Amino acid sequence: MPELPEVETTRRGIEPHLVGRTIERLVCRVPRLRWPLPGEAVSPGGMQVLAVERRAKYLLLRCSDGTLILHLGMSGHLRLVAAGTPPQPHDHVDLVFTDGTALRFNDTRRFGALLWTPDDPHRHPLLVELGPEPFAADMNGDYLYRRSRGRKGTVKPFIMDQQVVVGLGNIYASEALFRSGIDPRRAAGSISRTRYERLADAIREVLTDAIAAGGTTIRDFTDAGGKPGYFRLQLKVYGREGEACPACGRSIVQERLGGRSTYFCRKCQR
Ligand SMILES: [Zn+2]
Repeated sequence: MPELPEVETTRRGIEPHLVGRTIERLVCRVPRLRWPLPGEAVSPGGMQVLAVERRAKYLLLRCSDGTLILHLGMSGHLRLVAAGTPPQPHDHVDLVFTDGTALRFNDTRRFGALLWTPDDPHRHPLLVELGPEPFAADMNGDYLYRRSRGRKGTVKPFIMDQQVVVGLGNIYASEALFRSGIDPRRAAGSISRTRYERLADAIREVLTDAIAAGGTTIRDFTDAGGKPGYFRLQLKVYGREGEACPACGRSIVQERLGGRSTYFCRKCQR
């Protein structure tokens, strides 16, 4: 599933190709993905793309009259193609530009989304409740410390709560807790401010490393022959049950926590 680093890499990949282009039409080949597609309800014809932004895992295609909100869901990916390129299976949406190119949205499992809003997208019901971005200045150790007071649940679901901080899925939450030496089973409300400072740094480091890895390994978005390949950061604990901890050599263990597989080192994480 695309996580924040993949979405950010996608944003960086498509942005230079989209900004300044004029939309000719929106082609929706199915009535809905996760939600109904805009289809004929919106006619963005003649509008210019002003910017491609990201908020959590949503891509915001800022146009002169409104915003297309796009979510890749479980399996979605974007590609830039010549407008006449015959659609392959699961090529559900084309955003066609007047210069003869198109942004093509392929989504096998159809959990993705494309929505249109003429209003401020940050006030949209899907976005309005979201917590701060992991790279925002106000997302720091002090913020996590304050938000966690009185929380009896464990720390891993706490940092995966999108109302606390956006962008941490199961993989990167496990990795950030390992890098900061925090046992994922600890109660969120029992962790000190100093340790939350370390965790806030680790969250940014792990996401920065993943975005950097994506920037170098993701395939060209204009490569018509294939899908942009998602990459995987060199993971230290996630998916490595029974392997040696890269710090101390003890076996990495796996436990279910909040319904999710959680990987950690019993010695390095306390
Ligand atoms: Zn260890």
